[in-house]
Amino acid sequence: MPEIPEMEIYKNYLNQWIKDKKINEVNVLRAKSVNLESTQFCKKVIGKQIIGISRRGKYLIFHLNDGHFLLTHMMLDGRLYLLTIDAETLKENEGNKSVDLWAKIFQSSAEDLKQSIKELPGKASVVFGLTEDTVLFFCNLTLGYLHYLNQDELETKLRELGEDPLDPDFSAQSFSHLLTGKRGMIKPWLMNPKNISGVGNAYSNEALFGAGILPTRLIPAISRTDKANLFNSLVNIIKDSIRLGGDMEEPFAKWDNLTGGYNAYFKVYDRAGEPCLVCREAIQRAEVGGRNAFFCPHCQI
Ligand SMILES: [Zn+2]
Repeated sequence: MPEIPEMEIYKNYLNQWIKDKKINEVNVLRAKSVNLESTQFCKKVIGKQIIGISRRGKYLIFHLNDGHFLLTHMMLDGRLYLLTIDAETLKENEGNKSVDLWAKIFQSSAEDLKQSIKELPGKASVVFGLTEDTVLFFCNLTLGYLHYLNQDELETKLRELGEDPLDPDFSAQSFSHLLTGKRGMIKPWLMNPKNISGVGNAYSNEALFGAGILPTRLIPAISRTDKANLFNSLVNIIKDSIRLGGDMEEPFAKWDNLTGGYNAYFKVYDRAGEPCLVCREAIQRAEVGGRNAFFCPHCQI
């Protein structure tokens, strides 16, 4: 599941590539992915300009020039893909003219699209046709979604979200304060979006390894120093991952060779049985709070 780094990379790409573009055409291929009846959704969104894209936890928020927002969550396997209808794309599509390919994209079923646009990272759920021959695909929004909301609805939806580790006002001190008086094991706490938003299984495992704390350690048994170490470990890993491309396999566009670059840097996540990069002990896997925890039994206590 995409976590903060992957969503932050999407946000950066979107701001770079589609900010200020107008939504000229919309195709809802999976009605349940949007919160309004499909034609109503199209009516609301078509003609609007995307004035910017922001992120809260694992959510992306498209700010529209009518004061409304499009809120999207990828959940398990949602993916975005950007297609620019340039000469190369046209050549790959049997020399179709730009207008023809455009029409084809907006008249195709999700199955046909997967056939014609080979690089699509899944089944298209919603497609946006933007100015200057740019197409944005929201794929695999089965558990995920794309909702058109006003300011109040957006605030209600995000109200319960916990602190974002990349918020400049969030510090080791406020992190430590949040943990005060809490019980239970640290890993499930870290993954609960009401406490910290945007941290899932991969980065919680890595952050705990970086701080030398077992995923099962009880919160009251974590010292002040360890809390600060955990905060710093989490923030540094997230920042490193963003810089190196996150761990998603599917590129955002055909020119994107950054995405997935962090995959090779995981130290414990998904490495059960492999040697710890610090002490050579085998990395172990155990179920903690219903999720797979990966840890080194020697480096983490
Ligand atoms: Zn180790």
